[in-house]
Amino acid sequence: MRAGGALHVDLTWTSREPLSIRPFSKLPAACAAAIHRKRMFKRILIANRGEIALRVIRAAKSLGIETVCVYSTADKAGPWLEHADQAVCIGPGPSPQSYLRIERIIAAAEISHADAIHPGYGFLSENAHFAEVCRDSGFEFIGPSPEAMALLGDKVSCKKMARKVGTPVFPGTEDAIEDIEEAVKVAHEIGFPVIVKAAAGGGGRGMRVARDEAQLRAGIESARQEAAAAFGNGSVYIEKFLENARHFEVQTIGDKHGNAVHLFERDCSSQRRHQKLIEEAPSPGVDPEKRKQVCESAAALIASAKYSGAATVEFLMDAKQNFYMLEVNTRVQVEHPVTEMITGIDIVREQIMVASGKPLSVKQSDIKVSGHAIECRINAEDPDRGFMPQAGLIETFAAPGGLGVRLDSHARTGYRIPPNYDSMIGKLIVHGPTREIAIARMKVALDEFKIGPVKTTIPLHRKLMDNPDFANATFDIHYVERLLKSQEAEKASGAAPAAPVKA
Ligand code: ADP
Repeated sequence: MRAGGALHVDLTWTSREPLSIRPFSKLPAACAAAIHRKRMFKRILIANRGEIALRVIRAAKSLGIETVCVYSTADKAGPWLEHADQAVCIGPGPSPQSYLRIERIIAAAEISHADAIHPGYGFLSENAHFAEVCRDSGFEFIGPSPEAMALLGDKVSCKKMARKVGTPVFPGTEDAIEDIEEAVKVAHEIGFPVIVKAAAGGGGRGMRVARDEAQLRAGIESARQEAAAAFGNGSVYIEKFLENARHFEVQTIGDKHGNAVHLFERDCSSQRRHQKLIEEAPSPGVDPEKRKQVCESAAALIASAKYSGAATVEFLMDAKQNFYMLEVNTRVQVEHPVTEMITGIDIVREQIMVASGKPLSVKQSDIKVSGHAIECRINAEDPDRGFMPQAGLIETFAAPGGLGVRLDSHARTGYRIPPNYDSMIGKLIVHGPTREIAIARMKVALDEFKIGPVKTTIPLHRKLMDNPDFANATFDIHYVERLLKSQEAEKASGAAPAAPVKA
């Protein structure tokens, strides 16, 4: 079938049985060497959907590389597919039957003669087994080696490595907890409150805050059970719990020649339920010397893991600007555009180049920060009804524009949002010479941006841009939730509701 100029192939006939393809045995050495030759890819398969699929298509096209998208039947009208050279249907809407099916993605790469696979974020992007299967099947994985991913992706081994190279970490247990009594002893040493966390954790699961010994004992048990069910790995550890922190993360990138740089940091303190809503770069008000140290320590960490590709080293920062590493995300992040806007470096292009064996295009001394960038995640959710995800037809989609305004979105008028996936339908990014100008530009852009009838987070972002805590950067990771709670309390007490906001 042909649509929008793209060649479409349908693999859904495999929906009952997994495709039987050749075993993932190691390739002969000569063949493996050929894959790792320093040559640019001809065709990249994108194992993802939506805005990040479009982002990768754009970067690949700018390098003269063809693209293949895999898609589920729920995404068959996905606007991003029109921009790909080929599209391969890999199964029904639910992601365990499509975007998470490794054998179908590999089959799609084989029939489309792709030579590399970009995993985007989410789905299989942090799955070391997937990275290994790609490599062993002869496709370059656009990301780290499975070994580096496993080392930095496991929070316990990552923390050990960080301690060795001097990246600041939380005080806490060195290893996964074997013995509860040992954990209780450590908790008393570092002082309550502490947090129990899953070694394989993600998405805020497997975490328990404990304010006393009884809560700690119960928390270890329940976190272990939750982690075992969610990740198939019940290992947990404890660390100091920081009450009023800010989220500070460092963008890093390494190549296969042992080079690693940082592209400075982002502040992502505007969160709801541990999900980021607004991100900005640089992080406002941080002491330049401390910032330099923590950014350099993040680059040292990925260098020590012989890491190639983009990685984000996440930290919490306390009121005295002490930093504590949370985890490393071994993939491109949703919020990478704010870093691109202040450094001028195309991170996805750089990912593709280093995966093909090219050295990083920049040295640390070349990387400079210019101005300030802010990103608002545009989620199809109804903030007035518990952030309920919104599926359905977008009848109006009027995009903002102007100096310093960037919109990364796969949505448009006539696009029907499927109910199966993440609710994010785009990212609005602005750049300006100062934070104040960036905020002013964001307000104008949000006012211009009209999406309907589906409800989105646009009105919430518009309110947050006026919030004094955001405007003065006197925030922490809980300020959005505090604001939402006080709004709910106001409504419940019958106080005059806030002025209605247009969607
Ligand atoms: P996940 O991988 O599940 O996202 P993280 O380690 O990144 O887990 O933590 C998610 C969030 O949980 C953080 O952004 C922060 O809000 C909270 N958190 C995690 N560890 C701590 C800590 N030691 N002190 C305070 N808050 C924490």
